[in-house]
Amino acid sequence: MLVDRYGRKINYLRLAVTDRCNLRCFYCMPEEGLDWLARKELMTYEEMLQICSVMVKMGVEKIRITGGEPFVRKDFMSFLTNLSKLQGLEQITLTTNGVLTAPFVPELKKLGIKSVNLSLDTLDRNRFFAITRRDELPSVLETMEQLLHHDLEVKLNAVVMEGKNTDDILPLVELTKDAPVSVRFIEEMPFNGGGAHPETLKWDHFRILGAIQEKYPDIKKLPDPPHSTAYNYQIPGHKGSVGIIAAYTRSFCGTCNRIRLTPTGELKTCLYGPSVLNVKDLMRANTNEQGLQTALLEAISKKEKNGWEAEKNNTGLTSLSASMATIGG
Ligand code: SAM
Ligand code: SF4
Repeated sequence: MLVDRYGRKINYLRLAVTDRCNLRCFYCMPEEGLDWLARKELMTYEEMLQICSVMVKMGVEKIRITGGEPFVRKDFMSFLTNLSKLQGLEQITLTTNGVLTAPFVPELKKLGIKSVNLSLDTLDRNRFFAITRRDELPSVLETMEQLLHHDLEVKLNAVVMEGKNTDDILPLVELTKDAPVSVRFIEEMPFNGGGAHPETLKWDHFRILGAIQEKYPDIKKLPDPPHSTAYNYQIPGHKGSVGIIAAYTRSFCGTCNRIRLTPTGELKTCLYGPSVLNVKDLMRANTNEQGLQTALLEAISKKEKNGWEAEKNNTGLTSLSASMATIGG
């Protein structure tokens, strides 16, 4: 089973199926996009299924599909259908920007997907354009409606950015009044694919909470589920909840149960650290299942205690100047 040297059971994989995206969120990638990976560098869907199957046998119970934008990869729904048949896998979730997602919601429901994270930093069309450099807010809102209509759990992810969307904090919180959504505010991290990023965080989780408490002083702390990366709250009488994710301050590392696979098969045992193994290369060298298991066990046993420790191992190319689109968030 996958257990690290601190006794943490690793049962959650985040799999980025592509680095490509149809938005250009400025905190994630430059306006011109990234130097997209060549197809042969990407894991094929067959390879992804193979490594997921090995990991599930070793204790992975939940897989989150992310990217880039998962729905821009060709035949994504066929892959998801095959993944949903994997014996022993208890839960599949998705993180999507929602631009192309709405028509697929009934199919997601049929596949047994119960929860979707939708990235939505603002409810204002002009600000949406300023942040994502694309005029796609209506399609994202349509996806949110479809998800709610089909009774899928909806978590909205909003990165909080000084001078960009702090006026959206309260309107996003207000969504929780009538809709059973969890609105999660995320501290901005210095990953933007462009390399240049001031490392000063103006809106940390305390300030975000403070801004909400000014309008809703009776906001209540909810118990946080195990392994939660969010501090969870609820405004009395509201159907939904509010989460704050200290992604930059990293106060959630102690109970970490997750690993990441990038689109090229790089295994990351911490978001903030370097890749520790390339599983695609192993599979292409015809490594058998036993060999894959041994390599995974060894890599995971070295998982760092927390993001600050892991970051010390980062050198050059895998530094925090990489794009989240190549890591999956
Ligand atoms: N394209 C999909 C989406 O946007 O939901 C999935 C991939 S995206 C990289 C996953 C998550 O990472 C999104 O919720 C996005 O807001 C978040 N993200 C990207 N860059 C970030 C940054 N610099 N700081 C904090 N969160 C970031
Ligand atoms: Fe695309 Fe998601 Fe990155 Fe935005 S955050 S550019 S939607 S991958």
